[in-house]
Amino acid sequence: MTYTPMIQQYLSIKAQYEDAFLFFRLGDFYEMFFEDAKKAARELEITLTSRDGGAKERIPMCGIPYHAAKQYIKVLVEKGFKIAICEQVEDPKQAKGVVKREVIQLITPGTVMDDQTLQPKQNNYLTSITSFDDGTYGFAVSDLTTGETKVASVPSWDSVIQEITAFETKEVVVAPSFESSEVDSLYERLNITVSYEDGIDIPEPLEQIASRIDQEKLRQTLGRLLCYLIKTQKRSLDHLQMAEVYTVLDFMAIDPNSRRNLELAATMRDKKTYGTLLWLLDQTKTAMGGRKLKQWIEKPLLNQDSIEARHSAVEAMIDSFFERETVRTSLSQVYDLERLVGRVAFGNVNARELIQLMRSLEQIPDVITALQVITNDTIRELSRQMDPCDDVKAMIKAGVRGDPPISVTEGGIIKDGYDDKLDKYRHISRNGKAWIAELEQQERKATGIKSLKVGFNKVFGYYIEVTKANIPSLPEGRYERKQTLANAERYITPELKEKEKLILEAEEKLVDLEYELFQQIREQVKAHAVRLQTLAKLISEIDVLQSFAVVSEEGQYVKPVFSADRIIRMKACRHPVIEKVMKNQTFVANDLYMDDDCETLLITGPNMGGKSTYMRQAALSAIMAQIGCFVPAKSAVLPIFDQIFTRIGAADDLVSGQSTFMVEMLEAEYALSHATQNSLILLDEIGRGTSTYDGIALAQAIVEFIHDHISAKTLFSTHYHELTNLQGELPRLRNVHVGAMEEDGKVVFLHKVMEGQADKSYGIHVAQLAGLPEALIERAGAILSVLESDQAKVMETPGPMVSGIKETQPDEIEQLTFFAEQKPGEEKEKLTSAERQAIKALKA
Ligand code: ADP
Repeated sequence: MTYTPMIQQYLSIKAQYEDAFLFFRLGDFYEMFFEDAKKAARELEITLTSRDGGAKERIPMCGIPYHAAKQYIKVLVEKGFKIAICEQVEDPKQAKGVVKREVIQLITPGTVMDDQTLQPKQNNYLTSITSFDDGTYGFAVSDLTTGETKVASVPSWDSVIQEITAFETKEVVVAPSFESSEVDSLYERLNITVSYEDGIDIPEPLEQIASRIDQEKLRQTLGRLLCYLIKTQKRSLDHLQMAEVYTVLDFMAIDPNSRRNLELAATMRDKKTYGTLLWLLDQTKTAMGGRKLKQWIEKPLLNQDSIEARHSAVEAMIDSFFERETVRTSLSQVYDLERLVGRVAFGNVNARELIQLMRSLEQIPDVITALQVITNDTIRELSRQMDPCDDVKAMIKAGVRGDPPISVTEGGIIKDGYDDKLDKYRHISRNGKAWIAELEQQERKATGIKSLKVGFNKVFGYYIEVTKANIPSLPEGRYERKQTLANAERYITPELKEKEKLILEAEEKLVDLEYELFQQIREQVKAHAVRLQTLAKLISEIDVLQSFAVVSEEGQYVKPVFSADRIIRMKACRHPVIEKVMKNQTFVANDLYMDDDCETLLITGPNMGGKSTYMRQAALSAIMAQIGCFVPAKSAVLPIFDQIFTRIGAADDLVSGQSTFMVEMLEAEYALSHATQNSLILLDEIGRGTSTYDGIALAQAIVEFIHDHISAKTLFSTHYHELTNLQGELPRLRNVHVGAMEEDGKVVFLHKVMEGQADKSYGIHVAQLAGLPEALIERAGAILSVLESDQAKVMETPGPMVSGIKETQPDEIEQLTFFAEQKPGEEKEKLTSAERQAIKALKA
């Protein structure tokens, strides 16, 4: 037995879309069969059934209602799946045999257009990568929803990964022959959907998009992206913007781990926005501004002039409170112009969205007027370029009603007076209805039947209804019986029939004509897509600049000054995010000074003392400075950093099955092999993941290597107090420590960074603070003293293990240990005067 013709049709279509769910339209449902059905039932938690398909065994099947499809598509796309939408492309009534079906669109993580799946303030990027024999790569990226398209030549695979994470790409398109280990790493490590595309020639209708690109490698890469889009979307892609070539080296390089560690756009723990730099800086009023802000954060600049232009603009915005508020008020009424234009071009915009577009454009003149008052070149230029697109606004206003329905096929969209023919139909329809409304009175008069009614139903159209009791009063001849009810008869008359014909015809034409006119307006608007996109871009930049101004003013941030001599001088610097989320306490500001005589800052002090916070705030300040924002300090001099590397925290790379220590070493290796003199390196507790001597040895060797061979500005925190002896050994290394004190047998963290090394660790006190049982704490203290005496013995007889440590003095040995024994009272005497002052300030 063979399958039924419909199942055969299904199978032949499915064969072309093996890596996608095939949503096979059957009446009011999308059905899935065979393996797709089993998988979909699992992923979507819907019931798996089966149907007879002609063969011996029943076919697994599951279905979702057509009208609820969006929800299910969203779930699948978010899980990284692709969905081929297969529709009936002929009227089932006209079909001979099986209804013809075709896939009309392939929805993939990188090509979703649906509002419910998209995040307003996040781009949805699709990229393509091409590898070349010389080891370089072509990189093209596009957001189908906004039309933004960029290409770059990328020097290495590491760099490709950085670009992919900077754009937070959802899907990558490569050649079928692409190196499979690299594909695996995309898929497994970064959880990105990988798709394949052979084509590399720029498709004819999209030639315009590539018109600025002459490098063959880049054309091929963009070609692959465009071929894929054409194949999957099967519709107009006119809104794709002319591809821009950018240079990877124009932006600060931040590797994926560091992005994660620094929580730029997602927190480490739950990938949320709350508590990230993006969250902190986002006072944007428009979705476009929100997306632009994220783009800027992901790609800090290196060009001093460009950065300073942003700083000046922010400063001017801060100084122009009134204008800024006017701009903010107007912007809050601007819808997502960029995506609206995308939908116009894509052909799925409705009349309500056109009205949103118009209302957004209505805000622009006020924005321009306010901006022109602000004395700043950047802002002036942005406002000068803003085109309020009055003609587009007028176009929509003239045609579309202010409160149109969502449906574009049921009329009620186009204004009276916009089109003569439409007016005529409307006139007929309205007049006809008025005539019918009057008819009731006339007929009642003529027949003397007071209960006579005129009504309408879909099957019989207009009718005159007379109760059975009154039928004898009807005159002969004129009334033709149409329908019989239990106690009434329904009639029509020739005049009524004639009017009805006119009305129904007019209404049908009306609806068709409205749709046609709506499409015309849509096409007219589409013709101005480029202008609207340019406007959206300008608005988004203004929005980010005002957002920086608001945040900088509220947080009392300062405009940084750039040093060509790699000098860091930050006075009273804070961690801006922690400062913002701290509710009842105040954040302790700390200075960070690293002049040209200091490359490495070795930070010691107890756990929880504030070491990594101090390091992070340095990196965040550098990033904030280089995206054009002010920085959280009283004054700030900073170099322009080419790259930032971090090794912070112990985020196990569970996915790739690597141990904490291995991850630690990989991250250190990455920093060591990529950093330059102009980089910023943060290494937090390197060596913690292995045995003590191993750890110390590695940590010291790493510090020495960076100091001697790279000379990048480096903040190195450690609990190996042995390393503090490096000061003096390494000329450009300086010790600082975070202060802590003991009070009533408990440790108090001062969070104050002070010169010199810490002389105590407080591990056991931290454990106590964490609430471990008192007996356990006492026992730990006892074990500690035994360990200390043992270690002291080892240290007295230098063996191979300690010989690498420079100049260990016997009398320092007690301080070398992690948990120096503490006798309350004794510690207080050891406090430096700076510490005492800090304590006093804290208590006050
Ligand atoms: P360490 O790296 O030394 O173990 P952290 O930097 O993780 O310590 O800081 C521990 C906690 O102390 C942070 O979560 C934060 O709440 C608080 N903290 C750190 N630095 C400061 C500061 N300068 N002012 C106030 N609180 C701070």
